[in-house]
Amino acid sequence: MSNTAVVHEDTPELGQELAEPPSLSAQADHPQDQELQSWRHLKNFLATHFPAASLKDWENWRWQLKNRITSARSMARILGLEFSPYVAAAGGLPAAVTPYYLWVASRSKAVQRCILPDIRETEIGPFERPDPLGEDVHSPVPGIVHRYPDRVLFLVTDFCSTYCRYCTRSRLVGKSGHHSDMRSWQVALDYIRQHRGVRDVLLSGGDPLTLPDMKIEWLLSQLRDIAHVEIVRIGTKVPAVLPQRVTPALTRMLRRYHPLLMSLHFAHPEEITPETSAACARLADAGIPLGSQTVLLAGVNDDVTTMKRLMHGLIRNRVRPYYLYQCDPIPGSAHFRTPVDTGLGIIKGLRGHTSGYCIPTYVIDAPGGGGKVPLQPDYVLGRDEQGVGLRNYEDRIFHYPDFGQEA
Ligand code: SF4
Repeated sequence: MSNTAVVHEDTPELGQELAEPPSLSAQADHPQDQELQSWRHLKNFLATHFPAASLKDWENWRWQLKNRITSARSMARILGLEFSPYVAAAGGLPAAVTPYYLWVASRSKAVQRCILPDIRETEIGPFERPDPLGEDVHSPVPGIVHRYPDRVLFLVTDFCSTYCRYCTRSRLVGKSGHHSDMRSWQVALDYIRQHRGVRDVLLSGGDPLTLPDMKIEWLLSQLRDIAHVEIVRIGTKVPAVLPQRVTPALTRMLRRYHPLLMSLHFAHPEEITPETSAACARLADAGIPLGSQTVLLAGVNDDVTTMKRLMHGLIRNRVRPYYLYQCDPIPGSAHFRTPVDTGLGIIKGLRGHTSGYCIPTYVIDAPGGGGKVPLQPDYVLGRDEQGVGLRNYEDRIFHYPDFGQEA
C-alpha cells in the first residue's frame, strides 16, 4: 500500500451517481432528517475532497483502501485543522485512514483524536514499552502468541485500513505494508495442529478483514480441518472504519465456517453510522455472535454518558459489549491513558443504571503477559462469620447470610 496521500486537489461538480442518498443508510433506527443531513454532509465531503469519486466508488471497499489518506498533513487539511501540532509525530506507528472514516472524523472531535498523529506520541513515559503485554516472549513461532493454555492468537496480517494512535501492537502494525502470505501462515497452522490443547483460535493482526475473501476462506478452511479447534474468532475494526468491506459475498462465505465469532473494536458512539449498522446487521444475520472491544481513552470515551451511549448503540446493533480495556502502556500513549479509577467509575455508572447486557467487563491486560484481570467497583464490603456485606448501585448496604461452608 502506498504511503502517499491520494487526496485530489481539484473540485469539479459531483457526478450524476450522487444524486440519490445511499441505500446503506436506510436504517429504521435513524430518523429521516438525520439521514438526510448525513447524506448532504457526505455529498459535500466527496465533492470537496474526492471529486472524481462516484457513489459506487465510495461504497467499494477496495476503492476505500486504495484512497487511504496516509499523511498527517493531508488528514489535517481535510479536517480543516492546523497542521503544526502533528508535524513532529514520530512514533513508530504509521498514519492511515480510509476516506470513509475520515468523513466520520470530520463530524467528531473524539474520532479525530483516535486517528490523528500527535506530538505527544514522542514523549515516552517510564513504564511504557513497545510490547507491554509480552506477546513477543509468548510467541513460539512467527504469527502465534500462546499465552493461555487452550487458545492462541494468530496474527495473520500487519495491515489495517486505519491506524488507531493507541494501538497495543503499534510495534508491529503497518510496518511491512503487506499482508502475510500463505507460506508464513503454514508455520502457524502447523503449530496449532501440533498443540491439541488449542480449542480456540483468535485471528487478529492488523485487521484480518482487510484480507481478500479468498485468503480469509483459506485460513478458515485450514482451521476447520483441525479437529481440536472448536471455535474461531476474528478481531476487527472493519465495521467502524471500513463498513463497505462487509459485503454479502463475505458474509455468505463466513457463515460456512461456524462456530465463528467476532470481536468488533469500537471507541465512540459517533462511529455507529447507518453504514456501520448495516455492516453489523449483515454479520449478525450471518449468525455470527458479535462482541465489542473498547479501549478506555482520555478525551474520547472516559465519561459515563459517552460510554453508555456507545454501549446502547452497540446493543441496538446486536453487538454485545464485551471488554473495556485500560489503555496499554505503549510508547507515547500517556495522553490517552486515564486513571484506573476512571474506568471503575464508568462501570459503577453503568451497573444498575442500564441493562446488564450493556455492561462490558473492565480489564487491565497485566503487563508482561499476565493476561486479562477484571476490575469491579467495591461491591463486596467485607465478610464475617455471619455473611457478606454488599453495596448496591445506589450505595445502599445489604447483608447476605453466608456461612462459608455447605450445610
Ligand atoms: S484496528 Fe486494531 S490492530 Fe489496527 S491499528 Fe487499530 S487497534 Fe491496532
